[in-house]
Amino acid sequence: MTDTNSSRTARLIHARRDGLNKGDPVALPIVPSATFHLPGDPAGVAQYGRSHNPTWEAVEHALSLLEDAPCLAFPSGMAAITAPFMALLKAGDRILLPSDGYYTTRLLADRILARLGVTAETRPTAQFADGGFDGFRIVYIETPSNPGLDILDIKAVSDAAHAAGALVIADNTTMTPLGQRPLALGADIVVAADTKAVNGHSDVLYGHVASRDEAVMSAVSEWRKLSGSIPGPFESWLVHRGLETLELRFARMCDSAEAVAKALKGHAALETLRYPGLPDHPAHHLAAAQMDRFGFLLGLTLRSEAAAEHFIDNCPLIQPATSFGGIHTSAERRARWGDAVAPGFVRLAVGCEPTEELVSALVQTLDNLPAGL
Ligand SMILES: *Cc1c(COP(=O)(O)O)cnc(C)c1O
Repeated sequence: MTDTNSSRTARLIHARRDGLNKGDPVALPIVPSATFHLPGDPAGVAQYGRSHNPTWEAVEHALSLLEDAPCLAFPSGMAAITAPFMALLKAGDRILLPSDGYYTTRLLADRILARLGVTAETRPTAQFADGGFDGFRIVYIETPSNPGLDILDIKAVSDAAHAAGALVIADNTTMTPLGQRPLALGADIVVAADTKAVNGHSDVLYGHVASRDEAVMSAVSEWRKLSGSIPGPFESWLVHRGLETLELRFARMCDSAEAVAKALKGHAALETLRYPGLPDHPAHHLAAAQMDRFGFLLGLTLRSEAAAEHFIDNCPLIQPATSFGGIHTSAERRARWGDAVAPGFVRLAVGCEPTEELVSALVQTLDNLPAGL
């Protein structure tokens, strides 16, 4: 089989088959065991629940088929992001973060890493390569940025960062391995919040680290075992179930997002609409070259905070919520969290509703915004 998203997904769906004995359950069992039967020499088998668990190992195997790289599972996206920092950094190191990326990562650097002697600098995603990467131990990227949807060239940034002696970590949460493959473009490590589209049902927090660098993975694995930052078996089972339908859901979400972008573009109630799949996005050509899909997030700017809140509250197919990647389309005004965006800016996260129903609900809600908002 050639190595495409389709072949990777097909392998994932049949991933359990090879290990089954006659009479074994086809569905993944949940194994909530802290201890394992361990007489005599403990080498080579499951020993204890902080280092081994068959349910999370099944998730790691499934994810590794999509990432085309070994994966380690974590109990949240932030636990996955924290792991390579704690495993690889030492006092005196400098790291570069996107100023417009996931806020909690910058907070982690400010509140925790700074105390340990690690200095973080920030740059906007659209100007990330400006100024070079000399002196950084880790160059951390997030493309498209969230919620601004700016895009950087993963290959160019990785090449320049490597020439300067840095490791590149990519937070690929918004795209999933089916939408963008940072490791194939030169990044050393992928981190992701599987809380979002990978689990896809808004009922669990989860994360993973993927890398083809053995030294990195053994340091991250040691961090997990010693710090105890391990996922639970039930959460792992939910994520495994979500993974089996990721390809179906992600395709619907991205197809619908493209349809929504085309239908809403130029609507009189919108000051701007940003989506990497539209030709007027400033980095559309780069997006088309490095992403397999254009994603399911859109940035809409309505005229005022009141107009944005009315749109979010009155569209029957929008769930007002933070986060994204669930079955339902959701939206929020990002200024409520202090993001540097206009008061009327809405991040719309497209879900799995039938496309035409969703497009017409969104258009009608915009058409019927009360005059004067
Ligand atoms: C949600 C998110 C995270 C954090 O994931 P949690 O599971 O909430 O810890 C990190 N990065 C991005 C881009 C996210 O969207």
